[in-house]
Amino acid sequence: MEPEIVWYAQSAFRIEVDGLRIYLDPYHLPPGQPPADVLMISHDHGDHLSGEDIAQIRNADTVVFASPPAAKKLAPPVTTLAPGQSARHGGLTVRAVPAYNVNKFRSPGVPFHPREGQHVGFVFEIGGLRFYFAGDTDVIPEMAEIGPVDYAFLPVSGTYVMTAEEAAEAVRQIRPRVVIPMHYGSIVGSVEDAHRLARLVPEGVEVRILTPISR
Ligand SMILES: [Zn+2]
Repeated sequence: MEPEIVWYAQSAFRIEVDGLRIYLDPYHLPPGQPPADVLMISHDHGDHLSGEDIAQIRNADTVVFASPPAAKKLAPPVTTLAPGQSARHGGLTVRAVPAYNVNKFRSPGVPFHPREGQHVGFVFEIGGLRFYFAGDTDVIPEMAEIGPVDYAFLPVSGTYVMTAEEAAEAVRQIRPRVVIPMHYGSIVGSVEDAHRLARLVPEGVEVRILTPISR
């Protein structure tokens, strides 16, 4: 079974899999998007936690998983997942994994996404498939524990997150079947970053460059 995956912009996706509709960091959604069964929010920066986009697709039945800083800015009920914590919803299991910078700094010594900020990525399993949504991160040692996965959503733009070259190193550690480059085309980075990643991954890994339906 293959999931249906829609890319909106930045790190915003809709995944339809095994009868469940999952949104990841919704941002720049066009009007008229269908409601979320599950919503995952990696961290509280404006290109990942967007109140108006969440309001469009969240309803009373939406199950929300969020990192601690994101959960603080969301209306309850929210299941807060700090790095290492996991939860279950029907046939879906979700584990929050660390996401932080090691070499991208806002000012000397101050990373954009500090490790102690408890931003997360999500590893989730449903319908016999395993997904890794990296959030905003560099290549970090914890990635060695994540794979293999069927689908990995990896940032490639550099500046605030991994570059394409660093994402290729992440791919070697995570061993995904399919990589979906993200976090380019809106604020920094371009599709050329995604193409660079495609040229750098080991043979046998599919890099699926999606067309965003918004900006
Ligand atoms: Zn971001």
